[in-house]
Amino acid sequence: MNAADSEGLARKLLAAGYQEESLDRADIAILNTCVVRQASEDRVYSKLHELKAWKTPERTIAVTGCIVAKEGDDLRRRFPQLDSVVPIGEYDDFLAGLAARYDYSEGEAMPPAGRTGVSHYVRVIQGCDHNCTFCIVPRVRGRERHVAMADVLEECRAAVEAGAREVVLLGQNVDDYHDPGGCGGLAALVRAVERTPGLKRLRFMTSHPQDLEPELLETMADSEVVCRELQLPVQSGDDSILKRMARGYQTRHYRAIVERARALMPDLGLVTDVIVGFPGESEAAFLNTRGLLEEIEFDVVHLAMYSPRPGTFAATKMEDDVPHAEKLRRLNDLLALQREIAARKTSRWVGRDVEVLVEGNDELGRPYGRIRQGKRAIVLRGSSVSPGDVINLRVVQATAGQVLGLPAA
Ligand code: SF4
Repeated sequence: MNAADSEGLARKLLAAGYQEESLDRADIAILNTCVVRQASEDRVYSKLHELKAWKTPERTIAVTGCIVAKEGDDLRRRFPQLDSVVPIGEYDDFLAGLAARYDYSEGEAMPPAGRTGVSHYVRVIQGCDHNCTFCIVPRVRGRERHVAMADVLEECRAAVEAGAREVVLLGQNVDDYHDPGGCGGLAALVRAVERTPGLKRLRFMTSHPQDLEPELLETMADSEVVCRELQLPVQSGDDSILKRMARGYQTRHYRAIVERARALMPDLGLVTDVIVGFPGESEAAFLNTRGLLEEIEFDVVHLAMYSPRPGTFAATKMEDDVPHAEKLRRLNDLLALQREIAARKTSRWVGRDVEVLVEGNDELGRPYGRIRQGKRAIVLRGSSVSPGDVINLRVVQATAGQVLGLPAA
């Protein structure tokens, strides 16, 4: 979601004639922030401290993103070097202020360095109507607002016309999507978007086990365009913890979704999120999560240690009773387990041909992209391959995080 916001703001700045520059040459530094975990928030403060040395009267520092909703004007008091505090999506006044200060109208509009424009993020829902007890998102992003299906289709059409090959439909809980005009939910939206002329790939994220409808899995399985990847956070493998998190499902429900999805799409890439050390997580509860990871064998697990977020139900009503050292032990244990599972699962691609949408070149100059199941792919000896190409790759090597191969005949 933050990447989509950054892209949106970057597009507006480019359209106004600004250019992306390295920090030492730039006049304006904009931090787009995340507060979903304490560690993300701490990074913002540390960056703001660093920028003190960079700041001059001619230079501008702005902060946008979720920290603005959380901290508001306190940010200015704590960081006097800060020029602008910009609420998410409310960029017009900020841009007008910049325009009055700097004149870049003669600048040549260029794609930001490092971005190919192959993938285009389309926000279909803002905010979230769930109330998971650990989560600060509803507080900082507000209640759900759904974008009209016609507007989503128009944005996708324009993005593909401008060179995108893939669109990613985004929502904090994308399965909740419904067209405000009554044209249907996420499955209907996916079926409409996949007909966009020239579109090669369609992804959506993030799903919620409570809201994911069987029709969506069938739509994925039937489609040549929709990627075989499902981002389905489980958060815990223990039912008592799921209840304390107010997630609205039990592990048997989660298992049933995975079983159905894999029956329809045996090669599905499955991604999840897990929090360890949630209040009340006993050793037995932790082992249930460990067991679920061993049983389901996810392709990717985003692991996090619980950190109380101010204003959430868990932070105000539950004791943060798992000691930090124990949270760390559980985190490291699951990281090691998942590394081993991911390496084993990725090795299944060796010797097979996979379809890769090329997104750019890595630091060694090798083309990279992703396979339809979401895994990163590196093209060895691919000098004639360009961003936006869809190629067949014969996989010759695999690590936990990526496959490497040669263009197949
Ligand atoms: S569904 Fe996701 S964004 Fe919404 S409250 Fe729960 S964790 Fe947060």
